[in-house]
Amino acid sequence: MSFMANDSRIELSLVIPAYNEEQSIESCVREADGVLARLGKRYEIVVVDDGSTDGTFERLRALKKDVSALRAVRFARNRGQTTAMAAGFEHARGEIVVTMDADMQNDPADIPRLLEKMDEWDVVCGVREGRRDTFVRKASSAIANSVRNRLTHESIRDVGCTLRACRARHVRRIKLFEGMHRFLPTLLKLEGARVVEIPVSHRPRTKGVNKYGIGNRLFKGLRDLFAVRWMQSRYVKYEVKEEIE
Ligand code: UDP
Ligand code: MG
Repeated sequence: MSFMANDSRIELSLVIPAYNEEQSIESCVREADGVLARLGKRYEIVVVDDGSTDGTFERLRALKKDVSALRAVRFARNRGQTTAMAAGFEHARGEIVVTMDADMQNDPADIPRLLEKMDEWDVVCGVREGRRDTFVRKASSAIANSVRNRLTHESIRDVGCTLRACRARHVRRIKLFEGMHRFLPTLLKLEGARVVEIPVSHRPRTKGVNKYGIGNRLFKGLRDLFAVRWMQSRYVKYEVKEEIE
């Protein structure tokens, strides 16, 4: 009995936050399922519908008939990408959690390469090669990345890339706040995780609309940046010199 329980244990959870992605969610889940099915691991796909007002959840309901690995959680209202990710982490049953966007800008074919690195690392982050976004978006990301890195003494090249693999026990240790998905690698490092970056491909968004403009990325991001700096400076850490028992 216990053997069977062990045997059915999920090894890998793919977490996908989705907000008003009715046009891409189905292809996204099917494409990811195709890649994961070839890995030879027990997996699940956890989509967190972040309070979509379109047909995203209805698509998921229909999709469950074909994709048995699919699980979906629907928020009562839109709470933002970090909150959707946090809910995904809570629902995920796998020892390894991979995150990815729902708009098909990430390519699930990169997931096996992220997983290969998990032997040596706790967190493997994608860096979007030849990023397929507008000039303005790429330029504002470049500025934001460099300001962020300088102020947090970091070297993360692409915090906006959510295609990442993490050990579940590491992600569950951090308390997430909205906006913090951009600082996830930094927060994980703070908790002692070994973090590495590898190049991944990137595709243009062909369906649905982008959820971020310059304003909500740059200005909110700045506020979050100071919060992370504060966390880094006030992090409770100590070295034990001696002990008497
Ligand atoms: N997203 C979400 N809640 C939000 C905004 C975005 O779950 O409030 C999801 C969105 O559906 C997508 C991912 O987060 O799967 C990234 O959003 P988007 O593609 O608009 O932004 P990008 O990172 O490409 O700039
Ligand atoms: Mg996108």
